[in-house]
Amino acid sequence: MKTVCKKDQCAGCMACVDICSKKAIQVVDSVVAYNAIIDEEKCINCGACEKICQENKSPIQQKPIVWKEGWANDQKIRKKASSGGVASAIELAFVNNGGTVCSCSFENGFFCFSSAQTEQEIEKFTGSKYVKSNPKGIYKKIFDLLRNGKKVLFVGLPCQVAAVKNFVGDRKNLYTIDLICHGTPSPKILERFLNDYQLDLVSASNIKFREKTKFYLENNQKRFTVPTVVDNYLMTFLDAASYTENCYECKYAKTERVGDITLGDSWGSELAEDIQCKGVSLVLCQTEKGKELLEQADLHLSDINLERAIQWNHQLHRPSEKPKQRDKFLKEIRKGKKFSLCVWVSYPKRCIKNFIKTILYKTKIVR
Ligand SMILES: Cc1cc2nc3c(=O)[nH]c(=O)nc-3n(C[C@H](O)[C@H](O)[C@H](O)COP(=O)(O)OP(=O)(O)OC[C@H]3O[C@@H](n4cnc5c(N)ncnc54)[C@H](O)[C@@H]3O)c2cc1C
Ligand code: SF4
Ligand code: SF4
Ligand code: SF4
Repeated sequence: MKTVCKKDQCAGCMACVDICSKKAIQVVDSVVAYNAIIDEEKCINCGACEKICQENKSPIQQKPIVWKEGWANDQKIRKKASSGGVASAIELAFVNNGGTVCSCSFENGFFCFSSAQTEQEIEKFTGSKYVKSNPKGIYKKIFDLLRNGKKVLFVGLPCQVAAVKNFVGDRKNLYTIDLICHGTPSPKILERFLNDYQLDLVSASNIKFREKTKFYLENNQKRFTVPTVVDNYLMTFLDAASYTENCYECKYAKTERVGDITLGDSWGSELAEDIQCKGVSLVLCQTEKGKELLEQADLHLSDINLERAIQWNHQLHRPSEKPKQRDKFLKEIRKGKKFSLCVWVSYPKRCIKNFIKTILYKTKIVR
């Protein structure tokens, strides 16, 4: 089996699929890892895929020149967003200035990438989707927009930002925002979780992964657990048990960043709790283009304690560690067992605790 990058280290960025003129590459998702497999009968050995793959080269990363925390001044934007709404506010200013934003939205069961040129269109991007998104098709779109003189803002995971830069090269009109990224599971994991409730991704609507500092999955305003218990999907996500192999060796998990701006949650914030509950983003800026984006957007920004920010966000100094339960959890998933059963056998103590918490909540002993 010939693969574009090292076995099991593919990030699923899909840049190789977009560049291959012979349609010879298929990215195979085994849930444990992604692999971009080359069909040697179709391949003409042009080398374009290996050259473009972000996994095969060292990314250009820069130390932040600005460290801030803050939020969108527009309270509607801040409320709707996952954190402080800084991404949405920057995207809004960008389209209002005539640019095109490319980012991730949930459409027809897929976490795909598309473009937006109006205030109404960018709303589809709002909110963190805690799953591996699929940028297939967006690279050519960005390339064409830039070639036609358009300004483009790409917002995505660091590996995706690196992939965009490899695909289109160093362009004056390309602006990028990378998100601090803990790691991502295959969307098949989410599908399997939904299957326990007789749901699937195609029929899911308004899927939401968190409400500010509270993490819970919600589909069409319906939660899957009582409020005192984290659902099994987000429990395995937050415990780093469900990510694909490559994420545990992520080369973007460092202070030096790949985007013009980096956004995350300001977990180390020293602001009052009632302010933090409304959403506070961590905002790092690496370049002059990043400064330009921040100046254009309607944001409230203030200084932060740099050491605390790094300390409270481990992805700024190391990748997530594989918990001991991961192998068992994914082995059970691959056997096709019910999601809840896979979690029970991998995390028995936690499941018993959650079971008791649920009973206490339902009998109104704990609220
Ligand atoms: C998989 C994942 C893991 C993360 N891990 C961490 C972490 O460990 N620590 C931390 O501080 N922050 C993390 N974040 C970032 C955090 O969840 C917020 O996205 C960030 O703080 C920006 O918040 P906001 O309110 O400004 O974003 P919003 O205004 O809500 O906008 C979110 C933007 O992110 C894009 N986006 C959402 N999901 C995805 C996705 N799956 N792939 C590509 N683009 C996406 C949207 O399209 C939109 O442009 C993670 C985000 C994701 C998606
Ligand atoms: S070497 Fe060229 S033809 Fe072969 S898979 Fe890669 S991009 Fe496609
Ligand atoms: S990381 Fe991206 S470019 Fe590299 S093999 Fe995987 S999908 Fe292809
Ligand atoms: S942890 Fe790294 S490799 Fe994995 S999705 Fe995030 S940025 Fe990409």
